[in-house]
Amino acid sequence: MKIQISSDADARGVRHLEQQLMALGLQVYRVPAAGERVICAIATGDPVPIEEVKALRGVESVVKLPHEFKLASRAYCQASTKVAVGPVEIGGGEMVIMAGPCAVESEEQVFSAARHVYAHGARILRGGAFKPRTSPYSFQGLGVTGLRILRAAADELGMAVVSEIMDLSQLDDCMKYVDILQVGARNVQNFTLLSALGKVDKPVLLKRGMASTIDEWLMSAEYIMAGGNHRVIVCERGIRAHNTYTRNTLDLAAVPVVKQLSHLPIVVDPSHAVGVRSMVAPMALAAVASGADGLLIEVHPKPEIALCDGKQSLTPELFADLAGKIRETARVVGRTMPDRLDVAEPGRPDPGSADPGRVDPGRVDPEPGSGASKSAAKGAVRKGH
Ligand code: PEP
Ligand code: MN
Repeated sequence: MKIQISSDADARGVRHLEQQLMALGLQVYRVPAAGERVICAIATGDPVPIEEVKALRGVESVVKLPHEFKLASRAYCQASTKVAVGPVEIGGGEMVIMAGPCAVESEEQVFSAARHVYAHGARILRGGAFKPRTSPYSFQGLGVTGLRILRAAADELGMAVVSEIMDLSQLDDCMKYVDILQVGARNVQNFTLLSALGKVDKPVLLKRGMASTIDEWLMSAEYIMAGGNHRVIVCERGIRAHNTYTRNTLDLAAVPVVKQLSHLPIVVDPSHAVGVRSMVAPMALAAVASGADGLLIEVHPKPEIALCDGKQSLTPELFADLAGKIRETARVVGRTMPDRLDVAEPGRPDPGSADPGRVDPGRVDPEPGSGASKSAAKGAVRKGH
């Protein structure tokens, strides 16, 4: 239930009220955006009658929360949560673009993609270092070396990094190199992982599972929030349906639904939703129009030789074109987007790529003996199946 604290309760009164709530068998939580004077009290055992709570000293009013997710709900926290990552804010007035390759393959690939997407308005660099592949024989990612490459490329430009954590054994490395921890569609109900991410001091990008209902997805967000981490961004990435022409079916209605049910920011990943390069742009624009707070888009300098998801990866030229259209669409729905910076013509090398002084390979320090050798990080990875 949502408890409004009465205006005459001082700090001691609030502490006393919290103790009384716990004595009744309620757990006491707070979410920053809800404000200081609002408590979320949740029964984890027997239900507690609302009248008993209303009768407590220091209580102004009590509202029963209608959904199973409580901390994630807008019924509890009316103000929209804004997740700050360095200078970027997700859930505010800016359309936040997270872009980069599906998988980190080499320094050249990531630096080139990063410079390009940054110049066109992306402020968060995406790239998988730990890849959840359907086949065990496909490229599994460069691991920690990949994280280091992402960090170095992002630092060169002042970008933030979003990258997937598949397993808790990767947490220490992800904490070191990543700004937003991504939980993939396949891990959306890995409750051990979600609970552990509730204890970390980093935002989490929570993908929707391929078969998740919106309630189930928000319950996964609730797991993270119940642990104390309120910086959750949810990401619609398409669900399984009977359409065979796209990889998944992009449920864009989920955007206004989530906005109504929850105060959390929502971004849309059109790349994994459609799985086909030519269909990414129209769905990205539709996502902006639907009210999404940001987009996650796969971009590869040479999609035809990508080790993962090349078919859905935009070329730099297509991304440049789409970014301009996103900027225009964002304006129509009242959002801003960073201006385009001067870059080389599409198809020409990005500025700096011919200037070895701009890339400092010394900053990328592959772990000795990690299996991902320097030569792998330099582009000698063999294409998977
Ligand atoms: C990804 O973004 O790299 C990814 C694997 O996406 P999803 O978990 O949505 O399939
Ligand atoms: Mn991918």
